[in-house]
Amino acid sequence: MTQLTAEPGVEMPAIETQTSPSSQGATTPALTPALTLAGVSHRYGNLLALDGVELEVQPGEVVCLLGPSGCGKTTALRVAAGLEDLQTGSLKVDGRVVADGRKNLPPEHRGVGFVFQDYALFPHLSVLENVMFGLPERGGADRRRTALSALEKVGMDRLAAAYPHILSGGQQQRVALARALAPEPRVLLLDEPYSGLDARLRDRVRDEVLHLLKESGAATLMVTHDSEEAMFMADTIAVMREGKVVQRGTPTELYCQPVSPFVAAFFGEVNELDGQVQGGEVRTVLGDLPAGDQPEGAAVKVVVRPEAMGLHGEPFKQSCPLATVVQSRLLGRTSLVHLSIDMIDPASRENHHFHARMPGVYLPEEGRRVCIDLDLSQAFVFGEAEA
Ligand code: ATP
Repeated sequence: MTQLTAEPGVEMPAIETQTSPSSQGATTPALTPALTLAGVSHRYGNLLALDGVELEVQPGEVVCLLGPSGCGKTTALRVAAGLEDLQTGSLKVDGRVVADGRKNLPPEHRGVGFVFQDYALFPHLSVLENVMFGLPERGGADRRRTALSALEKVGMDRLAAAYPHILSGGQQQRVALARALAPEPRVLLLDEPYSGLDARLRDRVRDEVLHLLKESGAATLMVTHDSEEAMFMADTIAVMREGKVVQRGTPTELYCQPVSPFVAAFFGEVNELDGQVQGGEVRTVLGDLPAGDQPEGAAVKVVVRPEAMGLHGEPFKQSCPLATVVQSRLLGRTSLVHLSIDMIDPASRENHHFHARMPGVYLPEEGRRVCIDLDLSQAFVFGEAEA
Protein backbone atom coordinates (compact mmCIF):
# COMPACT_ATOMS: atom_id res chain seq x y z
CA MET A 1 0.00 0.00 0.00
CA THR A 2 1.12 3.56 -0.61
CA GLN A 3 2.54 5.00 2.58
CA LEU A 4 1.43 8.48 3.43
CA THR A 5 4.15 10.78 4.68
CA ALA A 6 3.83 13.99 6.60
CA GLU A 7 5.55 16.20 4.01
CA PRO A 8 5.39 19.89 4.84
CA GLY A 9 2.25 21.38 3.33
CA VAL A 10 0.68 17.97 2.69
CA GLU A 11 -2.64 17.17 4.31
CA MET A 12 -2.66 13.85 6.13
CA PRO A 13 -5.67 11.60 5.69
CA ALA A 14 -8.33 12.21 8.24
CA ILE A 15 -10.99 9.94 9.56
CA GLU A 16 -14.04 12.10 9.11
CA THR A 17 -16.95 11.51 11.42
CA GLN A 18 -20.62 11.75 10.72
CA THR A 19 -23.65 11.51 12.89
CA SER A 20 -25.69 8.43 12.34
CA PRO A 21 -29.41 9.29 12.29
CA SER A 22 -30.23 6.11 14.17
CA SER A 23 -27.66 6.60 16.89
CA GLN A 24 -29.12 9.77 18.41
CA GLY A 25 -26.02 11.89 18.41
CA ALA A 26 -23.37 9.14 18.51
CA THR A 27 -20.70 9.51 15.82
CA THR A 28 -19.59 6.73 13.49
CA PRO A 29 -16.37 6.93 11.48
CA ALA A 30 -16.80 7.63 7.77
CA LEU A 31 -14.14 6.49 5.36
CA THR A 32 -11.86 9.02 3.79
CA PRO A 33 -12.47 8.81 0.03
CA ALA A 34 -9.60 7.14 -1.82
CA LEU A 35 -9.99 9.66 -4.65
CA THR A 36 -11.61 13.09 -4.60
CA LEU A 37 -12.07 15.45 -7.51
CA ALA A 38 -13.37 18.80 -6.25
CA GLY A 39 -14.47 21.54 -8.63
CA VAL A 40 -12.23 20.21 -11.41
CA SER A 41 -12.44 22.16 -14.67
CA HIS A 42 -10.18 21.71 -17.66
CA ARG A 43 -9.79 23.60 -20.94
CA TYR A 44 -8.11 22.71 -24.17
CA GLY A 45 -7.78 26.21 -25.65
CA ASN A 46 -11.34 27.53 -25.87
CA LEU A 47 -12.94 24.15 -25.32
CA LEU A 48 -14.21 23.50 -21.79
CA ALA A 49 -13.69 19.74 -21.52
CA LEU A 50 -14.43 19.48 -17.77
CA ASP A 51 -16.80 21.85 -16.04
CA GLY A 52 -16.66 21.77 -12.23
CA VAL A 53 -16.53 18.00 -11.78
CA GLU A 54 -17.20 16.76 -8.25
CA LEU A 55 -16.50 13.09 -7.71
CA GLU A 56 -15.47 10.77 -4.90
CA VAL A 57 -14.38 7.15 -5.05
CA GLN A 58 -14.41 5.24 -1.77
CA PRO A 59 -11.83 2.57 -0.89
CA GLY A 60 -12.77 -0.69 -2.65
CA GLU A 61 -15.47 1.01 -4.72
CA VAL A 62 -15.75 0.75 -8.50
CA VAL A 63 -17.04 3.98 -10.03
CA CYS A 64 -17.74 4.14 -13.76
CA LEU A 65 -17.68 7.41 -15.67
CA LEU A 66 -20.28 6.92 -18.36
CA GLY A 67 -21.13 9.27 -21.20
CA PRO A 68 -21.09 9.87 -24.93
CA SER A 69 -17.94 10.43 -26.94
CA GLY A 70 -16.30 13.78 -26.20
CA CYS A 71 -18.08 14.45 -22.87
CA GLY A 72 -14.76 14.59 -20.98
CA LYS A 73 -14.41 11.11 -19.46
CA THR A 74 -10.82 10.49 -20.56
CA THR A 75 -9.81 14.03 -19.63
CA ALA A 76 -11.13 13.43 -16.09
CA LEU A 77 -9.01 10.28 -15.86
CA ARG A 78 -5.91 11.94 -17.33
CA VAL A 79 -6.21 14.83 -14.89
CA ALA A 80 -6.62 12.39 -11.98
CA ALA A 81 -3.58 10.42 -13.17
CA GLY A 82 -1.47 13.56 -13.55
CA LEU A 83 -1.05 13.10 -17.30
CA GLU A 84 -2.73 16.49 -17.73
CA ASP A 85 -1.84 19.33 -15.37
CA LEU A 86 -4.72 20.31 -13.13
CA GLN A 87 -6.00 23.77 -14.10
CA THR A 88 -8.87 24.42 -11.67
CA GLY A 89 -10.06 22.63 -8.52
CA SER A 90 -8.28 20.07 -6.40
CA LEU A 91 -7.45 16.38 -6.34
CA LYS A 92 -6.92 14.22 -3.31
CA VAL A 93 -5.74 10.63 -3.00
CA ASP A 94 -6.57 9.13 0.40
CA GLY A 95 -7.31 12.60 1.72
CA ARG A 96 -3.88 13.88 0.65
CA VAL A 97 -3.84 16.79 -1.80
CA VAL A 98 -1.93 15.64 -4.89
CA ALA A 99 -2.86 18.60 -7.08
CA ASP A 100 -4.45 22.00 -6.53
CA GLY A 101 -3.65 25.60 -7.43
CA ARG A 102 -0.27 25.37 -5.70
CA LYS A 103 1.02 21.85 -6.25
CA ASN A 104 0.93 19.20 -8.94
CA LEU A 105 2.51 15.87 -7.97
CA PRO A 106 3.81 13.85 -10.93
CA PRO A 107 1.89 10.64 -11.80
CA GLU A 108 4.41 8.32 -10.10
CA HIS A 109 4.01 10.10 -6.75
CA ARG A 110 0.22 10.05 -6.62
CA GLY A 111 -0.37 6.45 -5.51
CA VAL A 112 -2.51 5.75 -8.58
CA GLY A 113 -2.17 3.00 -11.17
CA PHE A 114 -3.65 3.30 -14.63
CA VAL A 115 -4.48 1.19 -17.66
CA PHE A 116 -5.31 3.10 -20.82
CA GLN A 117 -7.00 1.80 -23.95
CA ASP A 118 -3.93 0.47 -25.74
CA TYR A 119 -2.44 -1.30 -22.65
CA ALA A 120 0.93 0.33 -23.57
CA LEU A 121 3.11 -2.73 -22.92
CA PHE A 122 6.75 -2.32 -23.90
CA PRO A 123 7.33 -4.62 -26.90
CA HIS A 124 11.03 -5.14 -26.11
CA LEU A 125 10.36 -6.28 -22.53
CA SER A 126 9.03 -9.68 -21.49
CA VAL A 127 5.73 -9.98 -19.61
CA LEU A 128 7.61 -10.20 -16.29
CA GLU A 129 9.87 -7.25 -17.14
CA ASN A 130 6.83 -5.20 -18.11
CA VAL A 131 5.32 -5.78 -14.68
CA MET A 132 8.67 -5.22 -12.91
CA PHE A 133 8.89 -1.88 -14.72
CA GLY A 134 5.92 -0.74 -12.63
CA LEU A 135 7.91 -1.42 -9.43
CA PRO A 136 10.96 0.85 -9.68
CA GLU A 137 11.20 1.34 -5.93
CA ARG A 138 11.63 -2.35 -5.08
CA GLY A 139 14.97 -4.18 -4.80
CA GLY A 140 15.93 -7.07 -7.18
CA ALA A 141 14.49 -10.25 -5.60
CA ASP A 142 11.52 -8.49 -4.01
CA ARG A 143 10.72 -6.75 -7.30
CA ARG A 144 10.70 -10.05 -9.18
CA ARG A 145 8.64 -11.82 -6.49
CA THR A 146 6.04 -9.03 -6.38
CA ALA A 147 5.77 -8.95 -10.18
CA LEU A 148 5.34 -12.73 -10.36
CA SER A 149 2.71 -12.65 -7.64
CA ALA A 150 0.78 -9.95 -9.57
CA LEU A 151 1.00 -12.09 -12.74
CA GLU A 152 -0.24 -15.11 -10.81
CA LYS A 153 -3.30 -13.17 -9.67
CA VAL A 154 -4.27 -12.44 -13.27
CA GLY A 155 -3.40 -16.01 -14.40
CA MET A 156 -0.44 -14.90 -16.53
CA ASP A 157 2.54 -16.25 -14.53
CA ARG A 158 3.08 -19.12 -16.98
CA LEU A 159 3.69 -16.58 -19.73
CA ALA A 160 6.11 -14.48 -17.66
CA ALA A 161 8.98 -14.99 -20.16
CA ALA A 162 6.86 -14.31 -23.26
CA TYR A 163 6.94 -11.06 -25.23
CA PRO A 164 3.78 -8.96 -25.73
CA HIS A 165 3.49 -9.59 -29.49
CA ILE A 166 2.62 -13.27 -28.98
CA LEU A 167 -0.20 -12.48 -26.51
CA SER A 168 -3.89 -12.20 -27.33
CA GLY A 169 -5.72 -8.94 -26.58
CA GLY A 170 -7.18 -10.42 -23.39
CA GLN A 171 -3.77 -11.61 -22.21
CA GLN A 172 -2.20 -8.21 -22.90
CA GLN A 173 -5.03 -6.59 -20.99
CA ARG A 174 -4.35 -8.84 -17.99
CA VAL A 175 -0.61 -8.06 -18.07
CA ALA A 176 -1.37 -4.34 -18.16
CA LEU A 177 -3.67 -4.82 -15.20
CA ALA A 178 -1.00 -6.83 -13.30
CA ARG A 179 1.48 -4.00 -13.94
CA ALA A 180 -0.97 -1.42 -12.61
CA LEU A 181 -1.96 -3.51 -9.57
CA ALA A 182 1.55 -4.75 -8.60
CA PRO A 183 2.52 -1.61 -6.63
CA GLU A 184 -0.78 -1.92 -4.73
CA PRO A 185 -2.08 1.52 -5.65
CA ARG A 186 -4.83 3.06 -3.53
CA VAL A 187 -6.53 4.10 -6.75
CA LEU A 188 -6.76 2.44 -10.13
CA LEU A 189 -7.78 4.36 -13.25
CA LEU A 190 -9.07 2.33 -16.21
CA ASP A 191 -9.87 3.93 -19.56
CA GLU A 192 -12.14 1.74 -21.71
CA PRO A 193 -10.04 -1.27 -20.67
CA TYR A 194 -12.02 -3.75 -22.78
CA SER A 195 -12.35 -1.73 -25.97
CA GLY A 196 -9.74 -3.79 -27.83
CA LEU A 197 -11.44 -7.14 -27.07
CA ASP A 198 -14.08 -8.94 -29.12
CA ALA A 199 -17.53 -9.31 -27.53
CA ARG A 200 -17.14 -12.87 -26.16
CA LEU A 201 -13.68 -12.28 -24.72
CA ARG A 202 -14.84 -8.97 -23.28
CA ASP A 203 -17.58 -10.64 -21.26
CA ARG A 204 -15.12 -13.12 -19.75
CA VAL A 205 -12.30 -10.66 -19.11
CA ARG A 206 -14.51 -8.04 -17.48
CA ASP A 207 -15.92 -10.66 -15.13
CA GLU A 208 -12.38 -11.70 -14.15
CA VAL A 209 -11.28 -8.09 -13.76
CA LEU A 210 -14.24 -7.23 -11.56
CA HIS A 211 -13.31 -10.04 -9.15
CA LEU A 212 -9.65 -8.99 -9.20
CA LEU A 213 -10.51 -5.39 -8.46
CA LYS A 214 -12.72 -6.38 -5.57
CA GLU A 215 -9.99 -8.66 -4.17
CA SER A 216 -7.36 -5.93 -4.51
CA GLY A 217 -9.44 -3.44 -2.52
CA ALA A 218 -8.27 -0.62 -4.81
CA ALA A 219 -10.66 2.23 -5.45
CA THR A 220 -11.34 2.12 -9.17
CA LEU A 221 -12.42 4.88 -11.52
CA MET A 222 -13.24 3.41 -14.90
CA VAL A 223 -14.28 5.10 -18.13
CA THR A 224 -16.76 3.55 -20.52
CA HIS A 225 -19.36 4.69 -23.03
CA ASP A 226 -21.19 1.35 -22.75
CA SER A 227 -24.05 1.50 -20.24
CA GLU A 228 -24.31 -2.26 -19.89
CA GLU A 229 -20.60 -2.48 -19.10
CA ALA A 230 -20.98 0.29 -16.53
CA MET A 231 -23.89 -1.55 -14.90
CA PHE A 232 -21.88 -4.78 -14.87
CA MET A 233 -18.77 -3.25 -13.29
CA ALA A 234 -19.88 -0.34 -11.16
CA ASP A 235 -20.97 0.11 -7.58
CA THR A 236 -21.61 3.69 -8.59
CA ILE A 237 -22.09 5.26 -12.01
CA ALA A 238 -21.44 8.94 -12.76
CA VAL A 239 -23.09 9.99 -16.01
CA MET A 240 -21.29 12.81 -17.78
CA ARG A 241 -22.53 15.26 -20.38
CA GLU A 242 -20.57 18.16 -21.86
CA GLY A 243 -17.93 18.14 -19.13
CA LYS A 244 -20.34 17.85 -16.19
CA VAL A 245 -21.45 14.96 -14.00
CA VAL A 246 -25.23 15.11 -14.51
CA GLN A 247 -26.22 12.18 -12.28
CA ARG A 248 -24.46 9.89 -9.87
CA GLY A 249 -25.87 6.81 -8.17
CA THR A 250 -26.08 3.04 -8.11
CA PRO A 251 -26.88 1.33 -11.42
CA THR A 252 -30.41 0.68 -10.13
CA GLU A 253 -30.93 4.33 -9.17
CA LEU A 254 -29.78 5.54 -12.55
CA TYR A 255 -31.87 3.04 -14.47
CA CYS A 256 -35.01 3.39 -12.39
CA GLN A 257 -34.81 7.09 -11.41
CA PRO A 258 -33.07 8.97 -14.23
CA VAL A 259 -33.01 12.75 -13.72
CA SER A 260 -33.38 13.61 -17.40
CA PRO A 261 -34.34 12.13 -20.78
CA PHE A 262 -30.61 12.17 -21.58
CA VAL A 263 -29.76 9.84 -18.69
CA ALA A 264 -32.80 7.64 -19.36
CA ALA A 265 -31.85 7.26 -23.02
CA PHE A 266 -28.23 6.51 -22.20
CA PHE A 267 -29.27 3.21 -20.65
CA GLY A 268 -30.91 1.91 -23.80
CA GLU A 269 -33.35 2.83 -26.53
CA VAL A 270 -36.48 4.67 -25.34
CA ASN A 271 -39.81 5.85 -26.75
CA GLU A 272 -40.31 9.60 -26.39
CA LEU A 273 -43.59 11.53 -26.37
CA ASP A 274 -44.60 15.11 -25.65
CA GLY A 275 -47.47 15.72 -23.27
CA GLN A 276 -49.22 18.20 -21.02
CA VAL A 277 -50.29 17.95 -17.39
CA GLN A 278 -54.06 17.87 -16.97
CA GLY A 279 -55.69 17.12 -13.63
CA GLY A 280 -52.42 15.81 -12.15
CA GLU A 281 -51.90 13.35 -15.00
CA VAL A 282 -50.19 13.29 -18.33
CA ARG A 283 -52.47 11.81 -20.98
CA THR A 284 -50.59 10.01 -23.70
CA VAL A 285 -51.48 7.58 -26.45
CA LEU A 286 -49.76 4.90 -24.34
CA GLY A 287 -51.91 5.58 -21.30
CA ASP A 288 -52.13 8.10 -18.47
CA LEU A 289 -49.16 8.73 -16.24
CA PRO A 290 -48.96 10.49 -12.86
CA ALA A 291 -47.51 13.98 -13.41
CA GLY A 292 -45.41 13.85 -10.23
CA ASP A 293 -43.97 17.29 -9.39
CA GLN A 294 -44.92 18.83 -12.72
CA PRO A 295 -47.37 21.75 -12.40
CA GLU A 296 -50.82 21.82 -13.97
CA GLY A 297 -50.71 22.78 -17.63
CA ALA A 298 -46.95 22.24 -17.95
CA ALA A 299 -45.56 20.87 -21.19
CA VAL A 300 -43.64 17.68 -20.38
CA LYS A 301 -41.56 15.03 -22.08
CA VAL A 302 -42.50 11.43 -21.44
CA VAL A 303 -39.88 8.70 -21.81
CA VAL A 304 -41.02 5.08 -21.91
CA ARG A 305 -38.63 2.15 -21.98
CA PRO A 306 -39.62 -0.50 -24.53
CA GLU A 307 -39.77 -3.12 -21.78
CA ALA A 308 -42.39 -0.98 -19.98
CA MET A 309 -44.88 -1.78 -22.75
CA GLY A 310 -46.41 -5.13 -21.91
CA LEU A 311 -48.45 -6.47 -24.84
CA HIS A 312 -51.62 -8.58 -24.64
CA GLY A 313 -53.53 -10.24 -27.44
CA GLU A 314 -56.86 -9.56 -25.70
CA PRO A 315 -57.97 -6.35 -23.99
CA PHE A 316 -57.15 -6.84 -20.27
CA LYS A 317 -59.02 -3.71 -19.17
CA GLN A 318 -61.54 -1.45 -20.82
CA SER A 319 -59.36 1.56 -21.39
CA CYS A 320 -56.16 -0.13 -22.56
CA PRO A 321 -54.51 1.60 -25.53
CA LEU A 322 -54.68 -0.42 -28.73
CA ALA A 323 -51.90 -0.77 -31.27
CA THR A 324 -51.20 -2.57 -34.51
CA VAL A 325 -48.10 -4.72 -34.96
CA VAL A 326 -45.87 -3.40 -37.74
CA GLN A 327 -43.02 -5.87 -37.32
CA SER A 328 -41.64 -8.37 -34.79
CA ARG A 329 -38.01 -9.40 -34.41
CA LEU A 330 -36.38 -11.94 -32.12
CA LEU A 331 -33.24 -10.38 -30.60
CA GLY A 332 -32.22 -13.37 -28.47
CA ARG A 333 -33.35 -13.03 -24.86
CA THR A 334 -36.03 -10.55 -25.88
CA SER A 335 -38.30 -9.81 -28.83
CA LEU A 336 -38.69 -6.33 -30.29
CA VAL A 337 -42.16 -5.45 -31.53
CA HIS A 338 -42.68 -2.36 -33.71
CA LEU A 339 -46.10 -0.86 -33.09
CA SER A 340 -48.33 1.74 -34.62
CA ILE A 341 -50.67 3.27 -32.03
CA ASP A 342 -54.26 3.98 -32.99
CA MET A 343 -54.70 7.70 -33.46
CA ILE A 344 -57.31 9.42 -31.34
CA ASP A 345 -56.76 12.65 -33.26
CA PRO A 346 -55.82 11.83 -36.88
CA ALA A 347 -54.52 15.41 -37.36
CA SER A 348 -51.97 14.94 -34.56
CA ARG A 349 -48.37 15.13 -35.69
CA GLU A 350 -47.10 13.18 -32.69
CA ASN A 351 -44.89 10.18 -33.22
CA HIS A 352 -47.09 7.10 -33.04
CA HIS A 353 -44.50 4.52 -33.91
CA PHE A 354 -43.21 2.76 -30.81
CA HIS A 355 -41.02 -0.15 -29.83
CA ALA A 356 -42.04 -2.71 -27.22
CA ARG A 357 -39.61 -5.28 -25.86
CA MET A 358 -41.04 -8.54 -24.58
CA PRO A 359 -39.12 -11.30 -22.78
CA GLY A 360 -38.31 -14.48 -24.73
CA VAL A 361 -39.90 -15.37 -28.06
CA TYR A 362 -42.94 -13.16 -28.65
CA LEU A 363 -43.51 -12.58 -32.35
CA PRO A 364 -47.05 -11.46 -33.18
CA GLU A 365 -47.67 -11.28 -36.94
CA GLU A 366 -47.91 -8.00 -38.84
CA GLY A 367 -51.34 -6.37 -38.63
CA ARG A 368 -52.28 -8.10 -35.36
CA ARG A 369 -54.10 -5.90 -32.81
CA VAL A 370 -52.59 -5.81 -29.32
CA CYS A 371 -53.31 -3.99 -26.05
CA ILE A 372 -50.64 -2.10 -24.15
CA ASP A 373 -50.19 -2.55 -20.42
CA LEU A 374 -47.85 0.24 -19.35
CA ASP A 375 -45.44 -0.47 -16.45
CA LEU A 376 -45.30 2.94 -14.79
CA SER A 377 -42.01 2.15 -13.04
CA GLN A 378 -40.23 2.33 -16.41
CA ALA A 379 -42.07 5.36 -17.78
CA PHE A 380 -40.78 8.80 -16.76
CA VAL A 381 -42.19 12.32 -16.91
CA PHE A 382 -39.74 15.22 -17.23
CA GLY A 383 -40.29 18.95 -17.21
CA GLU A 384 -38.91 21.13 -19.99
CA ALA A 385 -35.98 22.27 -17.81
CA GLU A 386 -34.81 18.66 -17.34
CA ALA A 387 -34.75 17.95 -21.06
P1 ATP B 1 -14.27 9.34 -26.01
O1 ATP B 1 -15.31 8.45 -25.40
O2 ATP B 1 -14.50 9.59 -27.47
O3 ATP B 1 -12.87 8.95 -25.67
P2 ATP B 1 -14.30 11.31 -23.88
O4 ATP B 1 -15.62 11.46 -23.20
O5 ATP B 1 -13.27 10.49 -23.19
O6 ATP B 1 -14.51 10.82 -25.37
P3 ATP B 1 -12.30 13.39 -23.95
O7 ATP B 1 -11.32 12.54 -24.67
O8 ATP B 1 -12.05 13.67 -22.52
O9 ATP B 1 -13.78 12.79 -24.10
O10 ATP B 1 -12.45 14.76 -24.75
C1 ATP B 1 -13.29 15.82 -24.29
C2 ATP B 1 -13.21 16.93 -25.30
O11 ATP B 1 -11.90 17.48 -25.30
C3 ATP B 1 -13.49 16.49 -26.74
O12 ATP B 1 -14.18 17.52 -27.39
C4 ATP B 1 -12.10 16.31 -27.32
O13 ATP B 1 -12.10 16.55 -28.71
C5 ATP B 1 -11.31 17.38 -26.59
N1 ATP B 1 -9.89 17.01 -26.40
C6 ATP B 1 -9.44 15.90 -25.77
N2 ATP B 1 -8.09 15.90 -25.72
C7 ATP B 1 -7.68 17.04 -26.33
C8 ATP B 1 -6.41 17.63 -26.60
N3 ATP B 1 -5.28 17.04 -26.21
N4 ATP B 1 -6.40 18.80 -27.25
C9 ATP B 1 -7.53 19.43 -27.62
N5 ATP B 1 -8.77 18.94 -27.40
C10 ATP B 1 -8.85 17.76 -26.76
